[in-house]
Amino acid sequence: MTPSPFAQAADDRRVEVVEVGTRDGLQIEQTIVPTARKIEIVNAMLASGIRQIEVTSFVSPKAVPQLADAAEVIDGVERRPDTYLMALTPNLRGADRAAATSLDGGVLLCSASETHNRKNLNRSIDASIEGFAAVADRLRAADIDVLGGMAVVFGCPFEGEVDLADVLRIAQAYVDLGVDHITLGDTTGMATPANIRRVVRALKSRFPQVEFSLHLHNTRGIGLANALVGLEEGIRRFDASVGGLGGCPFAAGATGNICTEDLVFLLQESGYETGIDLGSAIEVAHAMERALGKPLAGQVMRAGPRLQLHAADAVRTAAG
Ligand code: ZN
Repeated sequence: MTPSPFAQAADDRRVEVVEVGTRDGLQIEQTIVPTARKIEIVNAMLASGIRQIEVTSFVSPKAVPQLADAAEVIDGVERRPDTYLMALTPNLRGADRAAATSLDGGVLLCSASETHNRKNLNRSIDASIEGFAAVADRLRAADIDVLGGMAVVFGCPFEGEVDLADVLRIAQAYVDLGVDHITLGDTTGMATPANIRRVVRALKSRFPQVEFSLHLHNTRGIGLANALVGLEEGIRRFDASVGGLGGCPFAAGATGNICTEDLVFLLQESGYETGIDLGSAIEVAHAMERALGKPLAGQVMRAGPRLQLHAADAVRTAAG
């Protein structure tokens, strides 16, 4: 049996950066990126050292035309030995489509607030929890791992503060299903260092056997600060998107997920090992910019690595 890609690494300085740009980022983009281009970008992500990618989502192609090619992208990627591809499988129909592909992990989804769950998935939290088992069975029958996903864990754009009891209840439902990995989503960028610490501590002490990962958005500019607090609390797995691709449906022009290259830069400069080559990740971000025909919000992709030096006489000296 191959070891679970979610088992805690023996080395505490190892951090897994999970790329979600082609899913979370592209799902909000109006410019449809051709399937072949998506595959090219995912291949370049793998070549940069990224091992785990949430490639797409098996949502209704009518609801999200950008991701209608989910199966073709999953099966078109050039896998490497440690490649692990994930996709959202929010319902039975999605799981059916996923089951026919070479997907490694299917992510179930539920929001930690009632209103967001009804808006996003068109059902109550209880109905979502009830539906998990059938989706999980379908995925497992196709030899696809079942992973847990939770949205708006750190704040809901409709209800405000989220009740920790609801977060714990949904986590318990995943655990009852035999899920050993749960992603905590800060879907609209409402997390703060204080509530990251509070929620992560509560979950880790209640479910020490589960590996939790953080899915952070940089909507209010403190995404990397939240990631650092997550690291302090023992989180070793973070979602991120190339160039900080993506946005927020409730804030026009807002940035998306925390940016892959910026996160890799922070981790490397803080003594963590990601296995990702920063220069190659920056090139992937530029490739995504070209695919969308617009600049992305990443910062290290503009400034370059810290010790990328400039010729002194090539720069005009400013006063002050
Ligand atoms: Zn997201």
